[in-house]
Amino acid sequence: MKTLRTVLEEAQGRGDAVGHFNVSDLVLLKAVLAGARELDVPVMVGLSEGEREFVGTRTIGAVVKGLREEYDFPIFLNADHTHSLAKGIEAAKAGFDAIVFDLSALPFEENIRQTKEAVEALKAINPLMMVEGEIGDIGTGSEIHDKAPDLAKGLSSPAEAKHFVESTGVDILAPAVGNMHGLLKSMVSGETKKRLDIERIAAIKKAAGTFMTLHGGSGTDDDDLRKAIAAGINVVHINTELRVAWRHGLEQGLAKMPDEVVPYKIFPPAVEAVRQVVLSRLRVFTGKRQAA
Ligand SMILES: [Zn+2]
Repeated sequence: MKTLRTVLEEAQGRGDAVGHFNVSDLVLLKAVLAGARELDVPVMVGLSEGEREFVGTRTIGAVVKGLREEYDFPIFLNADHTHSLAKGIEAAKAGFDAIVFDLSALPFEENIRQTKEAVEALKAINPLMMVEGEIGDIGTGSEIHDKAPDLAKGLSSPAEAKHFVESTGVDILAPAVGNMHGLLKSMVSGETKKRLDIERIAAIKKAAGTFMTLHGGSGTDDDDLRKAIAAGINVVHINTELRVAWRHGLEQGLAKMPDEVVPYKIFPPAVEAVRQVVLSRLRVFTGKRQAA
């Protein structure tokens, strides 16, 4: 099996990005794997600290390893938004391929100091683990927000990106480039879309020269996503859109079968709803319509 680093290098060479989808149950995980297999593109699944608390860090490590072997398919596991080294070490020991070590809420120099320490500690456990660091402000919570947070002051600059990457040794950088976690109500209905600062992405890529992730990709204009990938984004995170589809699909399943109690008969509409979102996003990230 290829390493995640090789997969990212190959995707970058093709001008593609790898889709990263958050999962917190088997419905979401099945749907992500099904979508990625259908297009035959590598995929990442991520779990934040809250999602890992629900699923179990060692459990999801074993499940994803099992899927990778059962289907001989490049599915990679990421410890999304990890705020302490202790939680990072737990994920490294559970076999995670990547981690987002997120101390972006701390003062910049403190973020650098602790992220550098984490890179060293995590690579001592697994030298292949890809460590991502985060700078700037992209808001918190992959959920539905009533009003837009003011993130303009938290945009990342090329100079701080370069300084951060050089000082910490991270493999991947998560910058703030107009992206935001969660969706506004007007985005759920599709009336408005998130827009990205493409020039900033290109300038940060040039300065930092590293792999880059776009967090909070849900609800972003498709053309902006394509341009962001062309400008240097290597991984795009989608969470809230999957959660919205999961809930709608589940409600459909329950409404269709008001007397049913068998979970695997109720869940298929939820799997299908999530799979459709995964397919649609992976097509944008890779330009692929179907497996060759
Ligand atoms: Zn994120």
